Amino acid sequence: MNRRAALKTLGTAAGAFLLDGCMRRGSQVVPGHPPELLHLPRVDVRPELEIRTVVGLRPFRPSGFVVRAENVGDKLVVHNYGHGGGGVTLSWGTSELAARLVREASGARVAVLGSGAVGLATSRLLQERGYSVTIYAKDLPPNTTSNTAGAQWYPFLVYEREHATPAFMQQFVEAAGIANRRFQLMVGERYGVRWIPNFYCSPDPYTSGRFAPGNPLHQFLVDVTAIEGPSNPFPLPYVRRVQTMMIEPSIYLPALMSDFFVAGGKIVVQEFHSPADVAQLSESTVVNCTGLGAHALFGDQELTAVKGQLTVLMPQPAVNYAAHFGDDYMFPRRDGVLLGGTHERDVWTLDPNPDAKQRVLAEHQQFFSGMKA
Ligand SMILES: Cc1cc2nc3c(=O)[nH]c(=O)nc-3n(C[C@H](O)[C@H](O)[C@H](O)COP(=O)(O)OP(=O)(O)OC[C@H]3O[C@@H](n4cnc5c(N)ncnc54)[C@H](O)[C@@H]3O)c2cc1C
Repeated sequence: MNRRAALKTLGTAAGAFLLDGCMRRGSQVVPGHPPELLHLPRVDVRPELEIRTVVGLRPFRPSGFVVRAENVGDKLVVHNYGHGGGGVTLSWGTSELAARLVREASGARVAVLGSGAVGLATSRLLQERGYSVTIYAKDLPPNTTSNTAGAQWYPFLVYEREHATPAFMQQFVEAAGIANRRFQLMVGERYGVRWIPNFYCSPDPYTSGRFAPGNPLHQFLVDVTAIEGPSNPFPLPYVRRVQTMMIEPSIYLPALMSDFFVAGGKIVVQEFHSPADVAQLSESTVVNCTGLGAHALFGDQELTAVKGQLTVLMPQPAVNYAAHFGDDYMFPRRDGVLLGGTHERDVWTLDPNPDAKQRVLAEHQQFFSGMKA
């Protein structure tokens, strides 16, 4: 599945944003047109600048993530998994919804399965409620999918519109709001979270279409501005600028682990193969944050992989904006300039795809060499 196909089929506001989004904030169109050319540094895209290519498998469910409780033997298992391409973004929100389902008395011991962005946020929220938390996980950062994420704050590739129920949409919007607020409080060096401008570039005009005022994610589009005519440095005529938070996983995840340990948390490296393994744990409440692992562990057949690949170039500190065009996107981070644009559904291999890498590099090279200096 390429990004354009993904955006057409998936009911995400990001899809609407890229394909036919008329830029609005709340219910108002924002008609910003800076009169002069925006001076932005070009990204230097050359194969010689590559420092790594990484692959991750997004834990995707067409009907969206799972946050619910069930009894497994004599344990309460609270599920919190299946966030697709928005797991970092939504982590604090779905984890808050999951934490509300934990009914233990304060001070009780609670187990969390998984140590990605979702497991760590869940663990911290449980600690903030006074629980004594142990994380059980087969892999820890830097070896989780969450380390592979971009990670722009925006819920992208989270569900398919035709499969999402009203109850899910309610959870989704509530989770996005909670998470957005929490990340705002983490902006700064310690957590590697910052606001940056994003430029969405298109050959076609943005029309109202799916970006209608009723879109529940409008509230998260900050400072939307049209950059067109003489002010537009990009090689595509229709450009919208919007501010979003950017999260650097290699700073953010260790910082969360450190907070977890300072609050008395423990980590046990352990793989679980079946619910019977989970039933052996001594804690009577378990929160399942195993991401794609829930497919095998809890037999969730709807959960599938959407493979994503990022080619990372040497850091370019002068580049402090993100760009999105067609299937592709560029995120500038301190650990490198990320070039992405692949979404292969039901592909479970972590092997890099050399053809996809060549395509992504060539498309970014063409795009940035066409930018006005
Ligand atoms: C290329 C790419 C770009 C992305 N960009 C973004 C982005 O810009 N913004 C965004 O919000 N998201 C993005 N994502 C999506 C994001 O990475 C995922 O949604 C997120 O990492 C899911 O987090 P998680 O904690 O649920 O899972 P994971 O990070 O996979 O963590 C799962 C944890 O569970 C453990 N586990 C699994 N199975 C078992 C088992 N059987 N026994 C014991 N432990 C187990 C694992 O070891 C791990 O510790 C991107 C993903 C990719 C691949």
